[in-house]
Amino acid sequence: MTDKKLPPGLHPDTLAVREAVERSQWGEHSEALYLASSFVQPNAETAARRFAALEEGYTYTRTGNPTVTSFERRLAAMEGTECAIATSTGMSAILLVALTVLKTGDHVICSQSMFGSTIKLLGTEMARFGVETSFVAQTDVEAWKAAIRPNTRMLFAETPTNPLTDLCDIAALADLAHAHGALLAVDNSFATPVLQQPAKLGADLVVHSGTKFLDGQGRVMAGAVCGTVALVDKVMGTFLRSGGLNLSPFNAWVVMKGMETLSLRVKAESAAALELARWMEAHPKVARVYYPGLESHPQHALAMRQQNGMGGAVLAFDVVGEGAEQLRAQAFHVIDSTLLCSITANLGDVKTTITHPASTSHGRLTEEQRQSAGVGQGLIRISVGLEHLDDLKADLLRGLDTLT
Ligand SMILES: *Cc1c(COP(=O)(O)O)cnc(C)c1O
Repeated sequence: MTDKKLPPGLHPDTLAVREAVERSQWGEHSEALYLASSFVQPNAETAARRFAALEEGYTYTRTGNPTVTSFERRLAAMEGTECAIATSTGMSAILLVALTVLKTGDHVICSQSMFGSTIKLLGTEMARFGVETSFVAQTDVEAWKAAIRPNTRMLFAETPTNPLTDLCDIAALADLAHAHGALLAVDNSFATPVLQQPAKLGADLVVHSGTKFLDGQGRVMAGAVCGTVALVDKVMGTFLRSGGLNLSPFNAWVVMKGMETLSLRVKAESAAALELARWMEAHPKVARVYYPGLESHPQHALAMRQQNGMGGAVLAFDVVGEGAEQLRAQAFHVIDSTLLCSITANLGDVKTTITHPASTSHGRLTEEQRQSAGVGQGLIRISVGLEHLDDLKADLLRGLDTLT
């Protein structure tokens, strides 16, 4: 039983709570959770028709589940794409993109400051299958352009990046990709559709780690790819069903409940992050703050245009110090002095998280890869949650005020 038919032209905030509400025969108000690995068929003939895809109906959760379908429809509506496909994690979403879009002999271009596992997957793992990857400076459209080759199949961007909040111009990259017969994929885990809808700016594929803001409360892992029916539903869906990269219905249900408050959370966290960033910029023990909402950010104008006037919840800063060893000790001191902030690599949570990227999220990279990602030993990343701002400032001051 599906909900009333929704009127057209609804805003993302409305879609987040109203799109694709799937109800059981009892008409429960909250979305039903169909926690089942398989579905009973009314008779052998129907089973045969459903397995042959001649008739709609669920058979086995790896090939489809109503709760997972609801999550996919809701995310697609919020991203403004024809459809979405749910995966077990953000990385399995990126793996799905890599294995369906790329083949031996293809070339992919991506930013050198992307999520660590994405760099590892596209730069190292895919090389074993004969896929070539070029890494370029995130912010420089000319660098992306110069890296184009006749066999370039895809441009893969993440904006803003983790942890330095570098942006790329999605519309410009989409034009560049399309002029050379390539696809543009954008990882929108950081920005979420509340800040930007990459498909509306020309991106062909929008990738998500639902583990971050979509859930928003640090409970489950999830991922998704959004795009056209022809590519995402048909090509990627077929691969996903064979490859078993699917999302668990329980996790889909949890993330869907998280998405209901996504807009409120992201707007509140973004406002708090801006105030925190301004305050930090004035602190003598902070060498530099990276935050797109600040006028000092090199791409502030692009951020305001592309991100719905918001900077997002994530900011990073360098503590003062000299040499890798001292910088690392200073950063560890600030992190270890906090009593509220959670020391965890997760982000997008209602609880503020604090992390040292050089030894955690970027710890597995070679020193050279880390250098080109711009992640120094004095860098600290914060994903601002929903605590009172005064309490957060006090928490950071514990370490900052006692630095040498
Ligand atoms: C966390 C993250 C991923 C990976 O997602 P998982 O759900 O951890 O697999 C990919 N991209 C970005 C930008 C992320 O922050």
